[in-house]
Amino acid sequence: MLKRINSTFTSVANLEIDAQGWCKQAQILLSPNFTERPADTQVDLLVIHNMSLPEADFSGDYILDLFQNQLDCDAHPSFADLRGLEVSSHFVIRRDGQLFQFVSCLARAWHAGLSSFQGREKCNDYSIGIELEGCDTCPFTDAQYASLSLLTMSLLQHFPIQHIVGHNEIAPRRKTDPGPFFEWSRFQQSISKQFAF
Ligand SMILES: [Zn+2]
Repeated sequence: MLKRINSTFTSVANLEIDAQGWCKQAQILLSPNFTERPADTQVDLLVIHNMSLPEADFSGDYILDLFQNQLDCDAHPSFADLRGLEVSSHFVIRRDGQLFQFVSCLARAWHAGLSSFQGREKCNDYSIGIELEGCDTCPFTDAQYASLSLLTMSLLQHFPIQHIVGHNEIAPRRKTDPGPFFEWSRFQQSISKQFAF
C-alpha cells in the first residue's frame, strides 16, 4: 500500500482526464457494467489489479471482450467459469502499454468485488480500478509501468486519492493480484514523492 504524504500536487501530467471522467488519450470501449457512485462519494482509493485471459496468455483481446459482455465463453476451456459474469474496470493497460478505458472515473466500475479497506466496505463505491494485463507469475513490462505512472499522476490531479493498494489488500482471502512481480517501489518512485509506503 502507498499512502499519500503530500496533498499538494504540482506535476504536469501528460494524460488528460476530462470533466466527464474520461481519459482523452485512452481508447474508449464502453462497458455496460457500472453504476453511479453513491451521492457525495470522495474517490480516494486507487486499486491495482492484474488479469489475463487465458491465464498468463496475452495474445488475445479477451479481457476487452469480457468487460463489454462480449466474451466468447467457448473460446477456451477456462472461460466456462466466466459465463454470465458482469465485471469491468475503469482502465486496462495492455502489455505494450496501450491504455483502454471502459467506465468513466465518475462512475462505479465493478472491479473489486467483495472488499474492504480500513474498515470501509464496498471499495467499488469510492475507488478507481486499473487492470494491468499480466499474471502472478511473470514481470510486467516497462511500457506498462510508464503508462501506469502517467495515468496515476493524471488521476491524482483530478481525484483526492489518499491510498494506492493492490486488489489483494482489499480482498485478501480471495485475491492475490497484482501479485509478487508488481514492483511497488518502482511504481512509487515513478509517481514522484507524493506517496510513501
Ligand atoms: Zn483484481
